[in-house]
Amino acid sequence: MLFTNGLDPSPVNFSLGHRYWTGEDPEFNSLIDETIAQSGGLSSVAAAAIVAERSVELSAVDLARLAAEAQERLGRIADQMAGTGEEVRSYGVALEENAAGLSAGADPRAIVETLIGLTSAMIARTREVERDLRQTGDDMRGMRASLADAQASANKDALTGLPNRRALDARFAQSIEGCNRDGTALTIAICDIDNFKGINDGFGHQIGDEVIKFVGSSLADKDAAVFTARYGGEEFVVLFEGIELGDAVARVDRIRAAISARELRITATGQTLGKISFSAGVSACNPGDGAYAVLRRADNALYAAKRAGRNRVIAG
Ligand code: GH3
Ligand code: MG
Ligand code: MG
Repeated sequence: MLFTNGLDPSPVNFSLGHRYWTGEDPEFNSLIDETIAQSGGLSSVAAAAIVAERSVELSAVDLARLAAEAQERLGRIADQMAGTGEEVRSYGVALEENAAGLSAGADPRAIVETLIGLTSAMIARTREVERDLRQTGDDMRGMRASLADAQASANKDALTGLPNRRALDARFAQSIEGCNRDGTALTIAICDIDNFKGINDGFGHQIGDEVIKFVGSSLADKDAAVFTARYGGEEFVVLFEGIELGDAVARVDRIRAAISARELRITATGQTLGKISFSAGVSACNPGDGAYAVLRRADNALYAAKRAGRNRVIAG
């Protein structure tokens, strides 16, 4: 099934194939059958969307929410720790003052000396506790920072530095909510490099990686309304928030035309890679659409672009 549909032998795709083959989830199988019947194949984008839709595991959105909650809680604990440290310090100061008063006026010297000794020991102890608390507060603040770092890198694709699929899923869920709530325009493009296997086969995987980076950086946009993610392999998904279908198609097509007009060369050897291009399927979110419906329309349009000869953008 994976070979027939040209799916990468990735863990996600293997588990998809296994699940399909066992038939344990009939709805899962009919979603796959339907997609294949409609678009004549199963791309990794469509496969991943089906897996996500029928998944019982925590979604990326749930994970992000949990991490944010944990961060907030850690922040509160760090503040409490700092507060407790403050109390311990004032306690130390009060003891110090009492000890000073007693030692000034009191008579039975031995007792007072003992008291002073005890008090000093307590002061030393509370200072120790204060130091420990302060250290714990610092540690927790450090933990909080590393959690934020971990969250950032969990959302980034290592090869291109672009947001990855996890980040896209979360952002997509947010923007589709906006589209459904107040009708904000939302357009999505799925871009897939054409005949990429040929580049890998002809020039090696490393050059293939460079081509992925090049296309990814060409699709990335400084415009904050454009969110470009590497969806997997040589596929990118671009979210156009607040941007209508026609405008989004024009933007993707400009990038496509610019890339396919260039002759890429390997800097080290001067060897030419020939022309590189990508095909794209673009679809707008209609109020009431789920993420899966929009992805599926865009993916069908991408298939249509591939069938029509590649190096083109089709709206669906
Ligand atoms: P089409 O025009 O129909 O899209 O043809 P294609 O050759 O691009 O299609 P296909 O999806 O069959 O091939 C994608 C290839 O991308 C297969 C896989 O080995 C390769 N690939 C996936 N991820 C990476 C990666 O991170 N680096 C490199 N170099 N290759 C990758
Ligand atoms: Mg592909
Ligand atoms: Mg491809």
